[in-house]
Amino acid sequence: MADTHKSDPAKSDQLQRRGLMFVLSSPSGAGKTTISRMLLEADDEIKLSVSVTTRRPRPGEIDGVHYHFVDADEFDRMVDEDDFYEWAHVFGHRYGTPKGRIRSALKEGQDFLFDIDWQGTQQLYQKDQQDVVRVFILPPSLEELHRRLTARATDSVDVIAGRMERARSEISHWDGYDYVVINDDVDACFAKVNEILHAERMKRQRQTGLIPFVRELMR
Ligand code: 5GP
Repeated sequence: MADTHKSDPAKSDQLQRRGLMFVLSSPSGAGKTTISRMLLEADDEIKLSVSVTTRRPRPGEIDGVHYHFVDADEFDRMVDEDDFYEWAHVFGHRYGTPKGRIRSALKEGQDFLFDIDWQGTQQLYQKDQQDVVRVFILPPSLEELHRRLTARATDSVDVIAGRMERARSEISHWDGYDYVVINDDVDACFAKVNEILHAERMKRQRQTGLIPFVRELMR
């Protein structure tokens, strides 16, 4: 991809650029997983950062696709070896973003989508303000959030009550994000998130190919 950008600088929409770290956070049930999936399906240039977690897979979840599922010892080992960009305790389990080759891929123009909570978002942002774009998705109401969590039918009543409690605390961090989108209609919400992604890609400092392009233009 980066080579295509380099080889055809005359096409202004294909200039070489730095990738971005596109963070989507929300209380669970606000639609973040659906929006993430729509974004990944609609756009070849963004790839999911697959997190590592100590929680058990839910039905239908695939190791290496939805998460890397590990036990507590393996997670400890990764922490000790400094394998994480960030990690946090969420709902009594641990979740972390493995470093992998994100940094070098960003330089090549690869975008990453992060489905992480507010704690992870803060850590990522502290490490890398320039590349991080923070988007928070809000449910239209807490009643609607409860309805969606119940309709999902994957969790027990206790777990749902815990998630509602957690939702209130997650929502209280809305002001640590660059963009906030209310998800009262999934297609409209997706369209907005998609617009944010496209606009952020056009930021001058991300378009590293602009300098040679403009130099050429002015010759
Ligand atoms: P779930 O168990 O429902 O898949 O995820 C629970 C919460 O953990 C969600 O809010 C999700 O965004 C968050 N989460 C998933 N992966 C990570 C991660 O790598 N780091 C952090 N900080 N949070 C994560």
